Amino acid sequence: MRAIPIEEPAMIKPVEEPAAPAKGTKLSYSQCHVEGQQIALTFDDGPHAENTPRLLDLLKQRGVKATFFMVGRAVVAAPHLVKRMADEGHEVANHSWSHPQLNQMAMTRVKDQLQKTHDAIVKACGVAPVLYRPPYGAILLSQRKTIHDEMQYLSVLWDVDPVDWRTPRSATRVHDRILNLTKPGSIILCHDIQTETVDAMPATIDALLAKGFQFVTVSQLIQLDRDLAAKQALAAAPVPAAATSATEKILPAAPSAPVKSPVASPPVPPVVKP
Ligand SMILES: [Zn+2]
Repeated sequence: MRAIPIEEPAMIKPVEEPAAPAKGTKLSYSQCHVEGQQIALTFDDGPHAENTPRLLDLLKQRGVKATFFMVGRAVVAAPHLVKRMADEGHEVANHSWSHPQLNQMAMTRVKDQLQKTHDAIVKACGVAPVLYRPPYGAILLSQRKTIHDEMQYLSVLWDVDPVDWRTPRSATRVHDRILNLTKPGSIILCHDIQTETVDAMPATIDALLAKGFQFVTVSQLIQLDRDLAAKQALAAAPVPAAATSATEKILPAAPSAPVKSPVASPPVPPVVKP
């Protein structure tokens, strides 16, 4: 049985988006599908006056890029830190103005929460965010769609949760949970307002690097996911027997695809990962 969260009673386990719809843009990501060892480290609820600069220092020392989902009221309190994030190659992203449960709010107020924060981030660093993370992962599907249609924002959740907000806080638990749960394409949820989380980062990042993981921003991870999906769609697309449209006629003939035999193919030996 999972312990009941103490500090964030409204914590909602994010629900995995069903496989990307056949048509249209995927509106939410909890993890990505990648061919390499890329992962995204994310930090929520900041910036924090002491912990965020300390975190930025250690990320810089390691050449690691992260994504910061910030609350607007903290952005206006420390705009210089937001500027520093952008200048140092991190992704700046939206986490609402005051951290409410968006799924219990009217759409006009939800948009206000996101727009005010968007404007504050742009003012602080000149970069317009394209991603938001709903506080507690709580967002309705209909809200997600409206936010995408009207603000062009994608929703980002997570698949690795070190529960760094739960008391008693522990840098060791943060380190161990991240190391145990992270896999290629993971989106790791952390909070740079927590001292113990930042304490855990040097050893955690070094261990992930030693395992061969490569840190990218969430937007970069989503792009890798899209590139892979496009590649797979192309590979799965049937090759037309004859050109049927003017567009196809001007294209050079596609190489013929191997004809699938109705007889069962020999079993493929399992690939053993090093
Ligand atoms: Zn949060």
